[in-house]
Amino acid sequence: MAISRDAVLDWIKAFTSVIEANKDYLVQLDSPIGDADHGANMHRGMQAVLAKLPGVADKDIGTVLKTVGMTLVSTVGGAGGPLYGTLFIQIGTATAGKLELTLADWAVALEGGVNGVVMRGKANPGDKTMVDALTPALTALKAAAADGTSIGEALRKSAEAAEQGVQDTISMVARKGRASYLGERSAGHQDPGATSSHMLLKVAADTWANA
Ligand code: ADP
Ligand code: MG
Repeated sequence: MAISRDAVLDWIKAFTSVIEANKDYLVQLDSPIGDADHGANMHRGMQAVLAKLPGVADKDIGTVLKTVGMTLVSTVGGAGGPLYGTLFIQIGTATAGKLELTLADWAVALEGGVNGVVMRGKANPGDKTMVDALTPALTALKAAAADGTSIGEALRKSAEAAEQGVQDTISMVARKGRASYLGERSAGHQDPGATSSHMLLKVAADTWANA
């Protein structure tokens, strides 16, 4: 069983819808510890992505995801755009030429993406960023893949680990990004980028549940 190119396109479209539905929520999360734009940034970026998808819908998965990433870099400013852009570009690099993905392929791809975000943003786990959702999700995914768990179950575990990671950001003191300007006062607030990252992986688990 595998994740098809069409399933990848469905994931990106579904994520666009989830971002649209949660735009105000993500803005609210970015208000006390940021500049209240994360939802608007992601929405603008994903709408631009949606417009680009028809042009790459018959290309390989790597080309599709690199296009997603480059579109986010060019349409979203601030920290989130380049970081999400890097995530998708690196996932796309790892899936270059592929028309479908096995669970092992997806684990390698997500690892490339998460490593890209860490290299670009220099955040460590515990710094209260999207890395705190992505890193536990990757760890859970790799463990499930190594166990011979089904794709659907592995993706579900990965999304659940991301969700726990989001909860864990609440008590953290931010050491990267705008939230770090608040120092100790950043504690007690959920990180917006970790929240949208969990949404991305939850949508993957839901969209690819029967892959
Ligand atoms: P900006 O902070 O420029 O307004 P956004 O509001 O779109 O950009 O995104 C903020 C999110 O970006 C934060 O919630 C955090 O998850 C993430 N972030 C910020 N800096 C970093 C970093 N250095 N590494 C990883 N993620 C980061
Ligand atoms: Mg912001």
